[in-house]
Amino acid sequence: MAVDVTRLVEKQETRVPANLKLPIYLDNHSTTPVDPRVLEEMLPYLSDRFGNAASRSHSFGWIADEAVETARARVATLIGSPSGELVFTSGATESDNLAIKGAAEAYRGKGNHIITAVTEHKAVLDSCKRLEKYGYRVTYLPVRSNGLLDLIDLERAIDSKTILVTIMAANNEIGVLQPIDEIGKLCRERGIIFHSDAAQALGKTPIDVVRQNVDLLSMSAHKAYGPKGVGALYARQGIQLSPTIDGGGHEHGMRSGTLNVPGIVGLGKACEISREEMPHESCRIAGLRNRLHDNIKSSLDEVYVNGSMEQRLPGNLNMSFAGVDGEELMTAIDDVAVSSGAACTSAHIEPSYVLKALGISDELAQSSIRFGIGRFNTQAEIDYVAAKVIHTVQQLRELR
Ligand SMILES: *Cc1c(COP(=O)(O)O)cnc(C)c1O
Repeated sequence: MAVDVTRLVEKQETRVPANLKLPIYLDNHSTTPVDPRVLEEMLPYLSDRFGNAASRSHSFGWIADEAVETARARVATLIGSPSGELVFTSGATESDNLAIKGAAEAYRGKGNHIITAVTEHKAVLDSCKRLEKYGYRVTYLPVRSNGLLDLIDLERAIDSKTILVTIMAANNEIGVLQPIDEIGKLCRERGIIFHSDAAQALGKTPIDVVRQNVDLLSMSAHKAYGPKGVGALYARQGIQLSPTIDGGGHEHGMRSGTLNVPGIVGLGKACEISREEMPHESCRIAGLRNRLHDNIKSSLDEVYVNGSMEQRLPGNLNMSFAGVDGEELMTAIDDVAVSSGAACTSAHIEPSYVLKALGISDELAQSSIRFGIGRFNTQAEIDYVAAKVIHTVQQLRELR
C-alpha cells in the first residue's frame, strides 16, 4: 500500500473553523496537559517553598511536609481510602513494580503463583515476567472479544499457591473497564491480594478501594492532568510489601528517596479537581466521544469499534478502518495527535498485543486508531477531526 501521503494531505479540504487551534490533541491516554489550576498550586513549591519534607528541624521542612500531607489526603479522598495508606512514587510504572514485586517477595512463604491478564500494561506484564525468572508461576488470563475478563477463568486459575491477582481498572488502548468489584470480592473471599493498575481510571471513573476490596492501587499524575514523573501506590493497611527502592526509609520504608514535593502537590490538586468535576466532565467527554463515533460510523462503511462500548472509559474510542493502514492514516491527519493500534518495536511495526488478544486480525489491528478525548477538547475540535478522518479514509480507500 504505497500511497503518497504528502500529496494526499495537500489535497485535503477539511474546513478549519476560525476558532480552531491546530494541531488538536486527542492522545489523552498517552499523557494529559497539566491543568492550569494544578500548575498554579505547584509553583510555590518550585520556588520559595523548596524545603525537604523530611527535614524536621525547621519551617522549610514543615511547610513541605504539610503540603505533602494535604496532597495525601486529597488523593486518598478520590479513591475512598482512609488517609495515610499511600506511598508516593515516580508514577504508575514504579507503583506497578512495587506492588507486584513487593507483594511477591513479602508473601513468598505463602505461595508463588500470580494471576494477571494478557491485555495488561507492560509495567505489569514485564514485572510478572521478571518474577518468573525467580521461580514464580504466572497465569496470563485471556480476555473475551470485547476485551473483558471472564470471571470463570479467574476463578479456575486460582490455586492454593496463588498470592496475588493483578488486573487493571481501565485499559490504556481500548479503554475497557474490567469488573473490579467482582474481582475484588472474589480475591477477598479467597484471601488473595488484589492489585489494580488504575493509571487510566483515576479521575475518569469512580474508584472506592474499600468498597471494591482493592488492596493495592497504582496511580499516575500525568494521566489525570497532573505533572509527569509522580504517582502513588495505595497499599491497604496490613498488606506487606518489600521495597524496590532502599535508602533513607521515607514513606514508612516502602519507598526511599526525597519526596518530589511539587509533583506530589500537583498530583493532590489534580485528584481534588477530578473528584469535584468527574460527574459533569465524564458526561461531557462521553458525549464528545459518542459524537465522534456516530459521525464516523454514519459516513464510513467497514469501521469497527475495538472493545466493549458499554464498559468503557468516557474518553476512549479505538476504531479499525478496514482497508486502511493506521500509520498511514495517522500521517495523513497530521494536525490531529492520535495513536495507532501498532507499536514500534526496535526493528519494525507490530500490531498491538491488546488488539490481538481480542482476536482481531493483524490487518484490522494495523488499521486502528486510538482517539483519547480529554478535559480540554471541544465540540468544534471533535467535528473537525471527524470530518478529516472521514475524508482521509475515503481518499486512502480510493487510492488502493
Ligand atoms: C501510562 C500507564 C502506565 C505508566 O504510567 P507512568 O506514570 O507513565 O509510569 C501504567 N499503566 C497504565 C495502564 C498506563 O496507562
